[in-house]
Amino acid sequence: MVIDIHTHTSIKDAVFNQGDLADAKRMAAHSGIDRIVHLFNLSTGGRDPSRQDVQTSNNLAMQLVAAAPDFYMGFCYLNPANGADFCLEEMERCIVRGNLRGVKLWVAVHATDKRLDPIMERAAQLKIPVLHHSWYKGTEWAYNESSPVEIADLARRHPQTTIIMAHLAGVGWRGVLDVKECPNVCIDTSGGQPEAGLVEYAVKELGAERVLFGSDWPLRDFAVQKARITGSAITPEQKELILGGNAARILKLQKGAGRHV
Ligand SMILES: [Zn+2]
Repeated sequence: MVIDIHTHTSIKDAVFNQGDLADAKRMAAHSGIDRIVHLFNLSTGGRDPSRQDVQTSNNLAMQLVAAAPDFYMGFCYLNPANGADFCLEEMERCIVRGNLRGVKLWVAVHATDKRLDPIMERAAQLKIPVLHHSWYKGTEWAYNESSPVEIADLARRHPQTTIIMAHLAGVGWRGVLDVKECPNVCIDTSGGQPEAGLVEYAVKELGAERVLFGSDWPLRDFAVQKARITGSAITPEQKELILGGNAARILKLQKGAGRHV
């Protein structure tokens, strides 16, 4: 099974509709992708979403999962600046009582910010992963955008929480080394230009068990992003782990799944 751990929607006003769902299923199927994880709706709330924005995006995620439970999975989008009480209640609403199975954090606050701590502790209790944005940029970074060094800080503060650091092709070789000594951190393969040798390097340094296929669709397309893995010089077994085996283990889609990578 091929699982894409990093996708979005870009639906105006986040209003669920069957057309957008059908488009996602059709395009994923064209690229041989069986299931995708919805992280948040790109057109809702910007970089510092309000409580209402967060709830609106998460409502859409839960509707997508409910409408296509064999295709869509979803993470609970949070902004730690909205307050611990709200974030924890949103985790209860969407994960414990709802149908989402992870947490997504973007660029509202840095990963070093203590306001992440209650979220990370609750994620460890629930044994669910936290997917966190990360990138190394020389220009055009968002305020409060986290680098891999900050993700490593978060991982060391919360060694019991599985973290999926986004954007291998955004953090590059240096980003891989920054989190190498943090066994609770995996990397998804999304990001910028697919530079030759980067997937192979991540597998060599981290092991294939810590690398997950992510496309960042619809910002990027499914086919090229998947080809980063299928075209890389690694073994068929390693490709199988990256394309779905690791996600199935972390998201507990199969028996015997452990908390960590
Ligand atoms: Zn993304």
